[in-house]
Amino acid sequence: MNTSVKIPVGISSCLLGNEVRHNGGHKRDAYITGTLSDYFEFHSFCPEVGIGMSVPRPPIRLVDADDGVRALGVRDPSMDVTDALKTYGREQQPELKTLFGFIFKKGSPSCGMERVKLYNEKGMPENRGVGLFAAEVMKAFPSLPVEEEGRLGDARLRENFIQRVFIYHYWHTHVAEATAVKALTDFHARLKLTLMSHDQDCARELGRLAASARPDNLVTVKAAYLTLTMSTLKKVASRKNHVNVLQHIQGYLKRELDADDKAELVEAIGQYYRGEVPLIVPITLLKHYFRKNPDDYIANSWYMTPYPAELKLRNQL
Ligand code: SF4
Repeated sequence: MNTSVKIPVGISSCLLGNEVRHNGGHKRDAYITGTLSDYFEFHSFCPEVGIGMSVPRPPIRLVDADDGVRALGVRDPSMDVTDALKTYGREQQPELKTLFGFIFKKGSPSCGMERVKLYNEKGMPENRGVGLFAAEVMKAFPSLPVEEEGRLGDARLRENFIQRVFIYHYWHTHVAEATAVKALTDFHARLKLTLMSHDQDCARELGRLAASARPDNLVTVKAAYLTLTMSTLKKVASRKNHVNVLQHIQGYLKRELDADDKAELVEAIGQYYRGEVPLIVPITLLKHYFRKNPDDYIANSWYMTPYPAELKLRNQL
């Protein structure tokens, strides 16, 4: 994995510490500006400033109106920036197309990805809105990995998002434009164990899809493959599925390990299953055995090295 190139990722500008919020402040996120900025090249967007609103500015909110959801001024409901925000989102598409992930500011009527306050006709908020800019981004790029900064505080969601960004980037730099069927089947072979950890049925379905690729249907198959892959990866990998994958990998060592080594591995996987040690423990042990007994399929497998180890994401799973 080449980690010297930073992956372009979009972000709500205030999360980088830019003072663009309606109150003139920011929402700098230390994990994003610290750890993640070593791997991601952030492209920042502030849709409200982008449509010409000032800093500071009157706050807006989402209102469930007769003609759909609208972004209106909190104090002055005649201020309607709905169309401007949607147009801004569409106008950013050429730059959005160059990105491999997006981190949105949670709760914002412009940037929130989900559960944004949406005010009903009685003026009561319900947590079922989507920020208008975020909605445009997700509609135009449905496979783009997206997440909110608040959810990145959860170890499983953080690992899930970062892994999706690395895989989506790899797809676009190695597979998307490739004209050979082999590029797709190699990609699937590499990703298979990872897919199994997210959803075994979808992993099988993707295997059938990749195997159905021929030169004359490659474009269509690849489009379907990417869509299903990204939606599968969005499902958070369960402990049970990880154990299945670990046992599957263990099977590649069945003739190489003696009884003591096997028992040690079984114990490490059991400890992970019982929540006594993090995922990195059985993975590290497996890597140790595969260093002594190399296997090309396992060595190339995304599951064994999904992102730079320095991110330490599997230490918390
Ligand atoms: S949440 Fe979005 S619109 Fe609001 S300040 Fe941050 S970047 Fe700008």
